[in-house]
Amino acid sequence: MNKTVAIIGGGIAGTALAIGLTQKGVKAVLIEKDADWTPTSSGIFIYANGLRALDRLGVLDGIKTAGWVSPDGDNLYLTPQGETITRTIYPSIGGAHVPPIVGIRRVDLHRVLTARLAEFDVDVRLGVTATGFRDEPGRPVEVSLSDGAQVSCDVLIGADGVRSQMRTALFGEIEPVYTGFGVWRSTHAKPKEIDVKIMYMGLGIRLGIMPISDDELYMFGTTREPDKPFYPRERWHSLMREKFADIAGGPAAALLEEITSPERVVYTAVEEVHLQLPWHRGRVGVIGDAAHSSTPFMGQGGAMAIEDAVVLADMLADPLAEAGDISATLQAFGLRRFERCKFVQDVSRGVGEAGAIEDHQATIRRDERLRTLGQGDVDSFYARMAEAI
Ligand SMILES: Cc1cc2nc3c(=O)[nH]c(=O)nc-3n(C[C@H](O)[C@H](O)[C@H](O)COP(=O)(O)OP(=O)(O)OC[C@H]3O[C@@H](n4cnc5c(N)ncnc54)[C@H](O)[C@@H]3O)c2cc1C
Repeated sequence: MNKTVAIIGGGIAGTALAIGLTQKGVKAVLIEKDADWTPTSSGIFIYANGLRALDRLGVLDGIKTAGWVSPDGDNLYLTPQGETITRTIYPSIGGAHVPPIVGIRRVDLHRVLTARLAEFDVDVRLGVTATGFRDEPGRPVEVSLSDGAQVSCDVLIGADGVRSQMRTALFGEIEPVYTGFGVWRSTHAKPKEIDVKIMYMGLGIRLGIMPISDDELYMFGTTREPDKPFYPRERWHSLMREKFADIAGGPAAALLEEITSPERVVYTAVEEVHLQLPWHRGRVGVIGDAAHSSTPFMGQGGAMAIEDAVVLADMLADPLAEAGDISATLQAFGLRRFERCKFVQDVSRGVGEAGAIEDHQATIRRDERLRTLGQGDVDSFYARMAEAI
C-alpha cells in the first residue's frame, strides 16, 4: 500500500491518526506548528469509548500506566457543603481490560502517543505549518510548508484544532461559537485518600476533582461568563478562589486554599465548532476539534478526536478505498461521524447548563433529578457511546 496522508496538526487527533494509518501500512506525514511539541495545560479525562479507541492504537496499557485508573467508574456528586447528593457509575466499554475512566496529565498522554508513533517510520515535521495546498484532478495533492518544503500526498487532513486554518482554507471563516461558559483548571498534589472522581454541584458553579496520576489531581470548575470577559493571567488564581468560594466542605475547600499563584491555573473561555457536512472538499478534510469542538462538560472532545482518527485510518487503509475515490471516502467518513459528534456536543452543552443554574429552587430540583435519574442518564449516554464506531 503506497498511499500518503499528510496531517496538519499533531494534537490528539493528528497524532492518533498518524498512528492509526502507519500501523496499517499507510504512510503519514505529520506537520505540527509547535517546535517543542509539548502540551502545557493540566489534565484530561478519557472515558471508556475513548479508551476503547486508544486500545485500537496499541497504547491503552501505556495510558493506564501513566494515568489514574478509576477503580470502578465511581463519580461522587457533592453539595458545596460537602454532603453527598448521589453517586453514578460509569461503565466499561470494549472488554474488561478497558477501564471506565482514566485521568491523565496531558503531557503524559502526548508522551504515550508519540512513543507509539516513534515505533513506526513516520515523517514528523515540527515548527512548521501549511501555507497553502493544491488539489487538482489527476495529480497528487501538493502542500506548501512554511519552511519552503513541498509535500505530495494522496489525502490532506486538517487536525489543527478549534481555530483550524485548514477549516478556513476549505470553507472560509467559520468562527467558533462562544458558549457563555468559562472553565478554571488547577493542578495539585493528590491526597492519598482521594481515589474517586468528585463533582460539586453549586449555585451557578460546578467544580470537579479529578486524579490524573498516582500523585497529582486537577480541579475543573465551570462558571457562567456571558460577556466573555478578559481575565489577565496574573489574576487567574485569585479569581478561581473567588469564583468557587462557596465550596466550603469536603476536599475542595483545602485544595482551593492551595491556589496562591497563577502558575498552576488555566482559564479557558469555552467555544464550540459547528461545521456542517461535508467536512471535506475533494481530497482534503478536517477531523477532531477542527470539525466539531465541544464543550468539555462530558469530557468527550478528546475521545471524539481519537475515534475520528481510528475510523478515518480504517477507512483510508481499506484496500477498496485505495482503488476508489478519496473524496467519496472522506464523504462517507463525515456521514459516519457527524451525528455521534453532534450528539456529544448537545449532551455536553446540556450538562454545562445544568451545572450553572443560578436559581436556588431550581438547583434543588436539579439535585433531586440527579438522585433519581442521574444513573439512567449516564447509562443511556454510554449505551450510545458503546455502539460500534
Ligand atoms: C477546558 C477543557 C477541558 C477539556 N477536558 C477534556 C477531557 O477531560 N476529556 C476529553 O476527552 N476532552 C477534553 N477536552 C477537549 C479536548 O482537549 C479536545 O477535544 C482535543 O484536544 C481535540 O484534539 P485535536 O487534536 O482535534 O485538537 P488540539 O488538541 O487542539 O490539537 C491541535 C494541534 O494542531 C496544532 N496546530 C494548530 N494550528 C496548526 C497549524 N496551522 N499548523 C500546524 N499545526 C497546527 C496545535 O499546535 C496542536 O498541536 C477539553 C477541552 C477544554 C477546552
